Formats: sequence, C-alpha cells, structure tokens
Amino acid sequence: MIDTDLLREKVSIRFSFFGVNKQQELSRLVFEITLREQVKVEAVLLSIPIEQKSFPRIKEALVRRRFTDLTARGILVEESFSMVDIDPANTVLLQPAPSFYPKRVYIEDDAKRSSLADRAERLFPLATFLSITSYKEKTKEISLDIKAYNRRTEDLFIVHEKHDFYKKCPCSPGVVGCGYHNANLGVGCPFECSYCFLQNYTNAHGVVLPANIEDFFTAFKGYDQGVRVGSGELTDSLVFDHITEFSPRIVEFFRSRPKSIFEFKTKSINIEKLLSLQGVSNIVVSWSLNPQVFIDREEHFTASLKDRLHAANRCARHGYRTAFHFDPIVPFKGWEDEYSKVVDLLFENVPADSIAWISLGMLRMTQRQKKVIENRFPGNTILSGEMLIGEDGKLRYHDSVRRDVYQKMLDLLKKRCSKDTYVYLCMESRSIWDVLKTAF
Ligand code: SF4
Repeated sequence: MIDTDLLREKVSIRFSFFGVNKQQELSRLVFEITLREQVKVEAVLLSIPIEQKSFPRIKEALVRRRFTDLTARGILVEESFSMVDIDPANTVLLQPAPSFYPKRVYIEDDAKRSSLADRAERLFPLATFLSITSYKEKTKEISLDIKAYNRRTEDLFIVHEKHDFYKKCPCSPGVVGCGYHNANLGVGCPFECSYCFLQNYTNAHGVVLPANIEDFFTAFKGYDQGVRVGSGELTDSLVFDHITEFSPRIVEFFRSRPKSIFEFKTKSINIEKLLSLQGVSNIVVSWSLNPQVFIDREEHFTASLKDRLHAANRCARHGYRTAFHFDPIVPFKGWEDEYSKVVDLLFENVPADSIAWISLGMLRMTQRQKKVIENRFPGNTILSGEMLIGEDGKLRYHDSVRRDVYQKMLDLLKKRCSKDTYVYLCMESRSIWDVLKTAF
C-alpha cells in the first residue's frame, strides 16, 4: 500500500516551487501512475523533467503517462485532479468470508411483534437485542465514517417502514431510463464488492430490514400496475432471504398480478426459499455476471460464477424466468476473452428461452465513491482504468471506449440470445444506445 502522506511529502519536495493546489494535483497523478505501473514513487518523480518549472508541461507529461490509451487516441484529458488521502485504517478485512451474524439487533417498537423479529431471535441467540422507538431517532446522533461502514454488519435494525415503499429508479441526468421501480425491502449488504455504490452511503448505520412486508403489498395495489419492480437497489435481493423469508410472499403476491414483473437481483445463491414453491414467469431471478478472475479480485464473499449459473439453472427449471446483468463491465487486459468465456458459460448452463433480459453497464462511479474505494480497497484493480468525469459528474470510460466495448459484448450475445430476450444498456446516453440499433 502506498503511504500517501509520504508521497505528498516527496511531491512537495520535488515540486517545492509550486503552491499547495498544484502539488495536490501532481500528487494525485503520481499516486495513480505508481499504482497503475506498479513502480516506486521515486521512479515516477525522477522521470519528470522539472528544469522549466512549468506546471502545464509537468502536468501534461503525467497525464499522458496516466492516460496512455486516451492520449494515444488523441483524446484531450483536461480535468483537475483532486487530493489523494488514504488512511490505512480504512482498509476492509477480506478474510475469512463471514456469514452474517449481527452483534446487536435493534427492533423498532412497531416491529416488536413481527415474525421477522421472532426469527431474528431464533437465528441470532448470541446477539444483544435492544428496543428502539425508531431507527431515525436512534441513529440521528451517530456520525459515521468509513471505519464504521466497515463494521456495518455488526448491527441489524428491524424496522416498521412507513414511507418510501417504492420509487422510480433514479437515473443519472441525460441517460435513457428503463422504467424500473425499486421496492425498498432492505438496506445494506454483507458482500464486499469493491465498486459497490452503497459505500457512498457511509451514513447507513447497519443492515436495515423492514418487518412489515404486507404494507408493501398494500402500497403496490394502489400503485401503478404493469410495472417492472425489484428490490436490489440498496441491498442484494436474496442474501438475507433465509432471515426475512420475503421471497415466497413476494412470489405469491405477484403470481396473481401477471402484468407486473418482480425481479430478485443477487450475487448470492440463497434460492432455497424461492424453490420452496412453484415458480412463475413474471418473477425474474437475476444475477450479475463477470469473469471469475474479476469476481476473485473485486466481488469479495459473493458466489462464484459457476455457482451463480447453477443457481440460475435451478430457478429456470423451477418455472422462474432469469436475467443477467453484465454490470459493471471493466475492460481489463484480456477482457474480451474472459467475457466471451462468461457468455459461453451462461448459455451452456441456462436455457436461452428462460432469459427475460440481459443488461450491460460499464463501471461508473461518483468522485466521492472513488475516494471511498481507494481507502477501503487499496488493492483494487478497477481504479487504474482510464475514466474521466462525464456530463453527469460521474467517472466513466470515454464514449468511444464504451461504444467499442458494448459493440463487442453485443456481438457475443447476439449469436446466443433468444429473440425474446430484451437486451439493454444501463445508465447510458441516447448516443451510446445507438450501438444497439445495429446489433440486433
Ligand atoms: S452484492 Fe451488490 S449490494 Fe452487495 S456489496 Fe456487491 S454491489 Fe454492493
């Protein structure tokens, strides 16, 4: 791990003729080059000619080295670079794979007599159980940081949800929406994907599960019918299913509403409750897919690719439809072969006619998320890619890279997909969506 205090100090000595802001920008570039090339800080610093003391020239030399592919394509990289500041105490411990067992279970007064509260008592006899008036009240005084986020699975909150049962999927400005609706059936996840956007929510005080799923059903009846709805926005839809037992109730509710579709989105293989009843075609069980080498590096504690596909096969044979999300796609060295193998494995293991949809989305993140990732996962391999700040303020690969990657992925998929499988891009602009027109 790079000692960023030391790095900043070395940069300030080498570039002592610049002010603090310029030194900060250079520190960020030197840091990212050092990581990307796996070389020593000194090697980068000493390779930069400083005789002319020209900030634009020095920055340009570093930018060219940090963004080799983009600059080789003639793409201008004109951003300002933010300070680098990494606290080693923020690193996530990545071994051994824990099973979820909270130390404390907080139960809101209104959720006290719920079946979920009873089950939690049976499943976690060693935990301390505490009554609270409300989650909001209990947590309002607590200020959280990355270290506290790393300990989030120590606390389980069982709550009585009163608002926010459903909301339209929040697209970024300028991207094509997919008409999705999110059911707020939990917050928090015990997996550790390095890119997880939940890390942005370092104000989440633990895992939060609602005890009153019947109120979600009531709210849905007065809600827009004929929608696509899912519960995987702020949690993994199935990872807690052995605790919540939501899936059988959701399946039964949607069985009599065939115009609407409910999606369970997961990286787990926690499907036993789903398999305890007959499947139905408007329930879609979906997995995100990535090459195993990427899962090993970046999706800690999740199920392996083979296990995900095996679980998908079981769900398909049981009467559910399946779906797959190639998201986030990361074009690492050798990615084409690796993703091609994933597509082969997918269609060898899962019947093509069970697949309701396949989405593609490339890695994207807010700038704040990047800072959290580099603190929590200093060994990550995703941040050395050449991402720039897009129109929506998020870091993304350049348009030309995204088009190229999507085109190649679509070429792989179109040979294998059934004609009824809907293929779409997640969080992409109209101009990028155009690659789909020629693909299918
Ligand atoms: S499975 Fe999803 S919610 Fe859980 S850590 Fe990974 S990205 Fe985040």
